[in-house]
Amino acid sequence: MYVTFNSRPAPVNLRNTRIIPFNFQYFEPESLDEALQLLSQYGPEAKILAGGTDLLVKMKMRTVVPKYIVNIKRISRLRYIVMDGELLRIGALTTWRDLEKSELVREEVPALHDAAKSMGSVQVRCMATVGGNLCNASPAADSAPPLLVHEAKAKLTSKQKTRTIKIEELITGPGKTTLRSDELLEEIIIPRRGKGGSSFIKIGRVAVDLAIASAATYVVVEDGVVSEIRVALGSVAPKPIRARGCEAMLKGRKINDDVLRAASEAVVSEVSPIDDVRSSAWYRREVSKALVYDSLVRSLARARR
Ligand SMILES: Cc1cc2nc3c(=O)[nH]c(=O)nc-3n(C[C@H](O)[C@H](O)[C@H](O)COP(=O)(O)OP(=O)(O)OC[C@H]3O[C@@H](n4cnc5c(N)ncnc54)[C@H](O)[C@@H]3O)c2cc1C
Repeated sequence: MYVTFNSRPAPVNLRNTRIIPFNFQYFEPESLDEALQLLSQYGPEAKILAGGTDLLVKMKMRTVVPKYIVNIKRISRLRYIVMDGELLRIGALTTWRDLEKSELVREEVPALHDAAKSMGSVQVRCMATVGGNLCNASPAADSAPPLLVHEAKAKLTSKQKTRTIKIEELITGPGKTTLRSDELLEEIIIPRRGKGGSSFIKIGRVAVDLAIASAATYVVVEDGVVSEIRVALGSVAPKPIRARGCEAMLKGRKINDDVLRAASEAVVSEVSPIDDVRSSAWYRREVSKALVYDSLVRSLARARR
């Protein structure tokens, strides 16, 4: 089914008003096959609409002007959280509210559960999907640091084939991904958390705001020594990043507060923040240290002994 919108173009006002100032064709496929067929047909000129909480804002501001909109919200088989052997599978259309309410996510991916509790408002969380958050590819995307430290993968599907890549390989820069124009993010795949504890902490200007900076960590300690460690940060580089230098400072070390502090402070050499409306680069750099330290302490407390 499709509807043509003939709204009269309004002047570009560069503000988030209620007006979408251009024409586009709108599709509401009810199956994945139908959606993939549309993407294969219209590819570069089409945009997928999931919750619309990023896309509609961009369309209203004309930073994105698609000719075709493929609303996938009716494809209910893309909305699930299931444990499949040693893997947790999360469908791309799973909302942030679903993540927040999921006992499986709280137990297996504590950092993502933290993110779900702090993301936007309840209203936004009910609309916004985890797939949309990743594919929007904001450096501040709250799902990215938790998924990076849990070594998650993304299942990408097109009419021709399905491929699975690391989340680290999905986002390449602000608003940029390795998704091809005929591909759809179908699922996020996360290994069981094992003995490790994880957490996510963010700081924003107000409660409902993108992160000024964020950090997620995953840590396993055996006999007092750090045996596994992953640290990721958001909003402090052109894309969400792993802080591998910080990880190297912790791996194999006997855990104590001095070691934690030294490693947290070292993240400043790995971030490359910018000044923008939300913060200064200087503040982002400074607060990164505290976020990593606090997240490590919380992850350690959550690790299974
Ligand atoms: C008031 C407000 C507060 C917000 N607060 C936060 C916050 O605290 N943290 C945060 O991270 N974000 C926040 N956001 C941003 C936004 O809500 C999230 O990024 C959200 O998860 C996007 O999901 P969506 O389903 O709405 O995506 P959409 O807007 O539908 O899509 C976003 C992009 O992803 C593409 N896309 C969507 N699904 C797929 C798919 N399955 N496969 C391929 N491409 C796809 C779309 O084509 C589009 O380019 C906020 C937004 C608003 C309006």
